[in-house]
Amino acid sequence: MSGETVGSRVAVALPVPLYGLFDYAVPDGSPVPEPGCRVQVPFRRQSLIGVVVGPGSADAPVSVRALERVIDATPLLETQTLRLLVWAAHYYHHPLGEVVATALPTLLRQGRSLDLFTCCWRLKAPEVPLDSLKKAPRLREAYQVLQLHDQRGAPEHILLLMGIQRRQLQQLAERGLAESFERPHEIAHSEVKLAQLPLIPNAEQQVAIEAIQSAQGFAGFLLDGLTGSGKTEVYLQAMQPVLEAGQQVLVLVPEIGLTPQTIGRFRARFHGPVVALHSGMTDVQRLQAWQSACLGEARIVIGTRSAIFVPLPRLGLVVVDEEHDLSFKQQDGFRYHARDLALRRAQQVGCPVVLGSATPSLESLHLAQQGRLTRLQLTERAGHAQPPRMQLIDLRGKKRDQGLSPELIQAMHHTLQAGDQVLVFLNRRGYAPVLLCSACGWQADCPHCDAHLTVHQQPAAHLHCHHCTYQSRFPAACPSCNSVNLLPTGVGTARLEEALRGHFADTELIRVDRDTTSRVGTWEKVYERAHREGPAILLGTQMLAKGHHFPHVTLVAILDADSGFLSADFRAPERTAQLILQVAGRAGRAHKPGRVLIQTWQPDNPLLHTLIEHGYHRFALNTLADRRKALLPPYRHAALLRAESPSHEQTQQFLRGAQARLLDQPGSKYLECWGPVPAPMERRAGVHRGHLLILAQERRVLHPLLADWWLALVQGPERRGLRVSLDIDPLELS
Ligand code: ADP
Ligand code: ZN
Ligand code: ZN
Repeated sequence: MSGETVGSRVAVALPVPLYGLFDYAVPDGSPVPEPGCRVQVPFRRQSLIGVVVGPGSADAPVSVRALERVIDATPLLETQTLRLLVWAAHYYHHPLGEVVATALPTLLRQGRSLDLFTCCWRLKAPEVPLDSLKKAPRLREAYQVLQLHDQRGAPEHILLLMGIQRRQLQQLAERGLAESFERPHEIAHSEVKLAQLPLIPNAEQQVAIEAIQSAQGFAGFLLDGLTGSGKTEVYLQAMQPVLEAGQQVLVLVPEIGLTPQTIGRFRARFHGPVVALHSGMTDVQRLQAWQSACLGEARIVIGTRSAIFVPLPRLGLVVVDEEHDLSFKQQDGFRYHARDLALRRAQQVGCPVVLGSATPSLESLHLAQQGRLTRLQLTERAGHAQPPRMQLIDLRGKKRDQGLSPELIQAMHHTLQAGDQVLVFLNRRGYAPVLLCSACGWQADCPHCDAHLTVHQQPAAHLHCHHCTYQSRFPAACPSCNSVNLLPTGVGTARLEEALRGHFADTELIRVDRDTTSRVGTWEKVYERAHREGPAILLGTQMLAKGHHFPHVTLVAILDADSGFLSADFRAPERTAQLILQVAGRAGRAHKPGRVLIQTWQPDNPLLHTLIEHGYHRFALNTLADRRKALLPPYRHAALLRAESPSHEQTQQFLRGAQARLLDQPGSKYLECWGPVPAPMERRAGVHRGHLLILAQERRVLHPLLADWWLALVQGPERRGLRVSLDIDPLELS
């Protein structure tokens, strides 16, 4: 075999929805590109950019097409990252080429070369008296940073990462004070300095910090601590020796948690290249941040879900903050879970990983019970803050005004009179969730979805589907009986705002939901108001629930706790409890104790009761016990086959066929199938959706069975006209 000289071949992962790798010949005389290098290749009638994964297979057809060009002389994706991607493609049963494409910033996917020259800045006139910049404090700041660097200059992307803007550099250049120049890129041994003394940890924080710091190689930790108990301080102190040893730290945060405040806390503690990676960045910014990370220059990388794939040659610690957050799971295309991959990555690299949350996912608690994660607890609020008190308000038999009970209104008056702020939480935007004909009972439904239309009043009264793009005018009369008695029924945030303005006419009120935040400046208004003392009402949906710091809020009102506990999805109670605690966590963050009032029609609901009386941990243990009895995840492993087509029958028939095929395989007796069933909202945006849930005790039994079956399914003729997907460890049964 080895004696044959057919020329070298490489196996390439291409960004196409096809399984398998594609072999290409390396032209004679060209060097063979290493795994991790990008290449451009002919594919059907196109020319595509892919990544070399390994040598081509020896028994591929003799005539394979030749590479068009090799883009990277040295691997763009180092071995560790490539290994993670290969593992993920295998585990999630997704084409490797698409997985690799997910990991790369757009510009690299398009074939742009990593810049080999770095744009740098240096001072032209280092002795200018700073007085001349007295009127321009930001320019002066930029000038002072450049002063710290000698005539070798500072790379522009590092300066940008330090918060200096390009405009300031250009203005310095216009004044003849600084100049830019290019120098060959080299890995700067970027230093990280402690810019601020760590706080003195309390006893629990101390235990946690020491446990993480003393880990040798891979170790997983679950940092289970109330909101405000000082988890971030634990991360910061655990990071310090890692950074001092010249290594890199990856911090994953939920989409909604990546605020300037979060990044600011890391930058305030550590002076050095702290890089953010999120979807709001331009392609060039992303490329720069990515490059800085993969050259080892960026020392702290803070990012949302997809940052799990950033190459980090000197990775020494991974942190996943708010590990229970749903945004870590990608819900379409390549459906990976960044928290699960974080565990895998830390294991592959051999470094510690810390999952932090005030309301840990049942998956992580289960891993802790099994001893695969070490649970570290923070049970007290750091500093002086007291945890909030939670109380239920029984709605039965009470007169309500737009969902507000008299007790709640009274409590709000009380709080506002004391000069404090109130947060009102309702997870339903719009004016009213239903439009009802009071004569015949007709309800306005979406013509494309199995859902009611929501009534909106802004800019004018109209109806709007929250599940597709359908909108319509407000009907003049009932289409079914012609009556004009059409009643907006139920309460959304817009209607609640109206009611609250009636009760608290003199109090400032800010509403935060998808409708108001689309207006520029809403968030700024919220932050500004929430950080200024004086009575105010903040009203909003779950956008308001996460991560924000509202120091003057002492009363949190949750208007409707019930719907979440009644849902058919077995994960709904867990999610509702997490949301309630997250909203509750907004109360009493500073020196004032907080109070949480939860309105319910079911004060005796055992889940709600446990949560209020005994806290999240007991709630979670009880829920885990229920899951164990029902043999549900995390006690069994799940995969969800989803299908969508224009007809109910086509969808169900496909799923039935798929099920029969799965159960036909040897070894299928170790599987259990639930379904096929229509999705809870079967028709959405005109397509009929259904699914089949597959459960198994062991992953190593489940995955091989899925692999062949799924390949046959996606490549087979039965799926024509349908959209199908396989979701491993699904979080939503919808
Ligand atoms: P979490 O991340 O758990 O919500 P934070 O780390 O944000 O909590 O801490 C909440 C507040 O308590 C912050 O203002 C933080 O500065 C403060 N804090 C944390 N640890 C300590 C400590 N050991 N001593 C004093 N204040 C602390
Ligand atoms: Zn009618
Ligand atoms: Zn719709």
